[in-house]
Amino acid sequence: MPISGIYGPDDFANRPQGQPQSQVTATPRATPARTGPPLPTPSLAWTPEIARATAPLYERVKHVIPPIEWPLLAPTIHAINELKRARGAVILAHNYQSPEIFHCVADIGGDSLQLAVEASKVKAGIIVQCGVHFMAETSKLLNPDKTVLIPDMRAGCSLAASITGADVRLLRERFPGVPVVAYVNTSAEVKAEVDICCTSSNAVQVVESLGARSVIFLPDRYLATYVASQTDVKIIAWKGACEVHERFTGQELRAFREADPSVQIIAHPECPPDVLAEADFTGSTAHMISWVREKRPRRLVMITECSMADNVRAELPDVEMLRPCNLCPHMKRITLANILESLLTLREEVTVDPALAVRARRSVERMINLKN
Ligand code: SF4
Repeated sequence: MPISGIYGPDDFANRPQGQPQSQVTATPRATPARTGPPLPTPSLAWTPEIARATAPLYERVKHVIPPIEWPLLAPTIHAINELKRARGAVILAHNYQSPEIFHCVADIGGDSLQLAVEASKVKAGIIVQCGVHFMAETSKLLNPDKTVLIPDMRAGCSLAASITGADVRLLRERFPGVPVVAYVNTSAEVKAEVDICCTSSNAVQVVESLGARSVIFLPDRYLATYVASQTDVKIIAWKGACEVHERFTGQELRAFREADPSVQIIAHPECPPDVLAEADFTGSTAHMISWVREKRPRRLVMITECSMADNVRAELPDVEMLRPCNLCPHMKRITLANILESLLTLREEVTVDPALAVRARRSVERMINLKN
């Protein structure tokens, strides 16, 4: 059914101005003293030893990184992997990270749900989050005693920036008793105000798990529209959007089909409805990857952030990717150079106010603990 209402900042005359977007804080601090063997000094020269040591990693990405570029990347990749081991750190990378990060330095890769679940299991004392800051916050919520680093604190998200904790309280005042579901693409401050979180993998399941006739679903209006089309629960939405996915158009998809009627098109539910109407399959990044592994289409258009097509092609080179390329500028703030810097200096550290973290963690854990 269509969404039954959509609200935004302009709909609340009493909305406080200048609300903080997030309790994420960068904590400049001196690198703590450590015991044990000295850290390896990174050498960023391309040498025969580096070539030998990184050859197995190049095998993973040879279909998406030209050989001429590898000598520029491999020394930093090698230095990151050495330093990661020496520090006892683990690197988590979202599917939208570039192949040299996703396939060559990450220990765990996946979508927001997979990273949230894996973050809760890691044994390492240091987590380096290669993604955007709401993901680093989620890792911190689930690992309060660990050091969580993000290589660039400016790696934000248009969805997370679209709503504040005060906005959630205003929505609750307008719709008393209606439960609130927040997409994980929100700040800890927002997560602390809601009943449960969801990802694009489990959004419908989470909404239906509440047993309510109406649910406030925020902040992505397009994901809300998609969820509403899959359930009988009435959905009240917020006017947020992903600046990457909202740029795709149905017309663009029709042009791909006209050029090659055999092409398969799969799309992320953060896209507008006219895009999803043209797609052969709609699903989260994890569901899209599973679909490609299973179907092995000859030619494919993935309507999502374009690094994911590279990451899938590195694994499945027989699938030809036609790429309408929308990059996420926030995801692309994370680079090999700043991952190395982060491991060297242990910055930027993500912290969340402990009292707020207790409430925000509850919303994330309630989602993780939902039975499949
Ligand atoms: S792709 Fe969209 S939802 Fe994901 S981090 Fe970038 S702006 Fe946010």
